[in-house]
Amino acid sequence: MPSHVTGSGRGLHPTQRTGAPAAPYPVPVAEASRGLPDPAGGSGGLSCPPRMDPFVDTLQRLREAFVSGRTRPAEFRAAQLKGLSRFLQENKQLLQEALAQDLHKSAFEAELSEISISQNEINLALRNLRAWMKDEKVSKNLATQLDSAFIRKEPFGLVLILSPWNYPLNLSLGPLVGSLAAGNCVVLKPSEISKSTEKVLAEVLPRYLDQSCFAVVLGGPQETGRLLEHKFDYIFFTGNPQVGKIIMTAAAKHLTPITLELGGKNPCYIDDNCDPQTVANRVAFFRCFNAGQTCVAPDYVLCSPEMQARLVPALQNAITRFYGDDPQSSPNLGRIISQKHFQRLRGLLSCGRVVIGGQSDESDLYIAPTVLVDVQETDPVMQEEIFGPILPIVNVRSLGQAIDFINRREKPLALYAFSNNSQVVKRVLAQTSSGGFCGNDGFMHLTLASLPFGGVGSSGMGNYHGKFSFDTFSHHRACLLRPPGLEKIYAIRYPPHTPRNLRVLLMALETRSCSCTLL
Ligand code: NAD
Repeated sequence: MPSHVTGSGRGLHPTQRTGAPAAPYPVPVAEASRGLPDPAGGSGGLSCPPRMDPFVDTLQRLREAFVSGRTRPAEFRAAQLKGLSRFLQENKQLLQEALAQDLHKSAFEAELSEISISQNEINLALRNLRAWMKDEKVSKNLATQLDSAFIRKEPFGLVLILSPWNYPLNLSLGPLVGSLAAGNCVVLKPSEISKSTEKVLAEVLPRYLDQSCFAVVLGGPQETGRLLEHKFDYIFFTGNPQVGKIIMTAAAKHLTPITLELGGKNPCYIDDNCDPQTVANRVAFFRCFNAGQTCVAPDYVLCSPEMQARLVPALQNAITRFYGDDPQSSPNLGRIISQKHFQRLRGLLSCGRVVIGGQSDESDLYIAPTVLVDVQETDPVMQEEIFGPILPIVNVRSLGQAIDFINRREKPLALYAFSNNSQVVKRVLAQTSSGGFCGNDGFMHLTLASLPFGGVGSSGMGNYHGKFSFDTFSHHRACLLRPPGLEKIYAIRYPPHTPRNLRVLLMALETRSCSCTLL
């Protein structure tokens, strides 16, 4: 793909290139090329003088659109959301093919975790847009009883969304829904690793949106570094914690507010009082979903040696039922995204002792669903987020020891506890911290748009999904409208001060639990 900033060809309407239906919105001329400008003058097919900034024109165009107020009316926002919806509906097959090419994602997984989840977010935003946009009245003290006090949700302005490769559609569209609903202009930078999905997002998605307010920008770390030199009004990043630090540093230069959706190691405590087969089904399913490349996947199991002895055959049973005797030939098991990640995961297979799986095939980027036992806390597999279909089991002697183990480490994005005894699940919940928590299952909590999705500590900051997305991408402006007159009442604030006036003022400013409705 030659273009750095997409949505149109170089002065060419996309329909002229692909024969697709005409864009309902004005299509500007594309500005720049993928990759840094080549000192020799060549840059992926378009000439771009050395040091020319490929993003300037696009960002200026989006800023001007925002300042014009174009994105603020509810009708405009709804039109963008409807455009996103049509993008999903009209390109479902294309998207499924792209996800299959990138990650060997089955149509089932693609529908469940990429397409329908994005569609649900759009539908929810469309249904609630006007209610979310409404000024929120707040309670008042005596001193402001004659005023109107409210929170206005106003768009930040120009938003940058940086997305990863593991759910390349969902993790691009999810934040996009929130930021468009909130009335922002948006630059989306999809992951360069999930190439096929990146191509669809760059070439097809912009046709469904108003391109004076939305652009897709392409590139890897180097180009993103250059993009981040520009000032944005909000940055929403999903990716690994190391890159999160780079993003936060870049944002700090402009004092830009950010959301960081990061990763980490998600513990999964399994109590002795459990049905091993039920637990094994659930843990194996969520560990192997998307070939284990899920930020909220159970990363490792904590259980007693006795539970481990019952769990391992149950896990073997689950894996064989799900993926057959030869999981490599199963259409339901994904592949590792790249050679780099494959090599990293293959290295982790030598930790502890393999009791299930352990096979790998570099030519197919295949790692078998694998269970490791005799794993030590100091082993490499326990030092980094696994992000593959490998499940280490670490033995603990008691629930207290499991909780200590969890609390000694960075706060995870998700935490799981399995037990027939609800007190055990509640104790894990009460005595630990994590972005999200699910008792007796895998990452079902994130299917609820009524729950905020985000990390805590090193697993991230901020959250989104449903109304939380709208709020994340909105500045909550504190507003007080006071009538111009009644100066006599307010004169009590002015010098010369008296003890009596101070007493009255303090009383009038007191925060009350209920709003006074006298006036
Ligand atoms: P990544 O951090 O490598 O990449 C994410 C985005 O940042 C991409 O668009 C990439 O181009 C860009 N990027 C990468 N290196 C950069 C750099 N040096 N400077 C500027 N930009 C850079 O993440 P990934 O490998 O695509 O995704 C996997 C990670 O993301 C895992 O750690 C996973 O846990 C995490 N993740 C978190 C969530 C969540 O919701 N919390 C969801 C999915 C993935």
